[in-house]
Amino acid sequence: MSPKPGSHPHSLGQGLTSPASRARLIAELKREGIVDERVLEVLQKLPRHEFVEEAWRGEAYKNKPLPIGQSQTISQPYIVALMTQLLLEPAPGGAPRKKVLEIGTGSGYQTAVLAELVQNVFSVERIKTLSEQARIRLRGLGYRNIHFGYADGTAGWAAHGPYDGIIVTAAATEVSKAMLEQLERGGRLVIPVGPPAQQSLRVIDRVLANKWQSRDVAGVSFVPLLEGRS
Ligand code: SAH
Repeated sequence: MSPKPGSHPHSLGQGLTSPASRARLIAELKREGIVDERVLEVLQKLPRHEFVEEAWRGEAYKNKPLPIGQSQTISQPYIVALMTQLLLEPAPGGAPRKKVLEIGTGSGYQTAVLAELVQNVFSVERIKTLSEQARIRLRGLGYRNIHFGYADGTAGWAAHGPYDGIIVTAAATEVSKAMLEQLERGGRLVIPVGPPAQQSLRVIDRVLANKWQSRDVAGVSFVPLLEGRS
């Protein structure tokens, strides 16, 4: 006897991880102001349920943050979409962004979104278990354009810089000079900044070799950017 539709909420194609629940999420992101069609397509297609702790799989296509282990969380889809949309917006008259750095690999979900949209993604994570799990997961999903680093990303990843874009997925108390210096001219940094409960999502453009322009676009809530490895 075949199972009733919806009776296995954790299997692909049914119940809470079904195409219908993904479509509802995408409609919600559009209502909230996500306009980049490529970003919406990627979020529709990616199996977010494979990036969260097993007990939370049934919630994977709701617009909320979820646990990924090691007391860390995957951001809500709206924030992932917003940060990606901001990061990939080209500079006026500039070329599309091709080489980006992510600080805070976590589950690798944001990394996968980026890997679908740019040629080369560099991603650093300070917690070894998360870095290794993300590497295995993303290799398993077939990505070959992601370069993983197990390191403290507070000072960026100088060895591979400069980058067209840098995205930080943990909240910094301040923006490090190293991150600003690792931006290409015309490059963009997207970073949550500020103490818990008062964080802003900041967009910083390197407009000239010695000139950066900054604006805050939204209030956000991220786990803290911490120094050292664990
Ligand atoms: N982009 C991730 C979000 C994970 S939460 C995802 O899509 O799942 C933020 C991550 O940043 C955590 O895994 C945390 O360990 C990591 N992190 C915090 N400080 C860091 C630092 N200094 N360098 C690298 N990673 C850091």
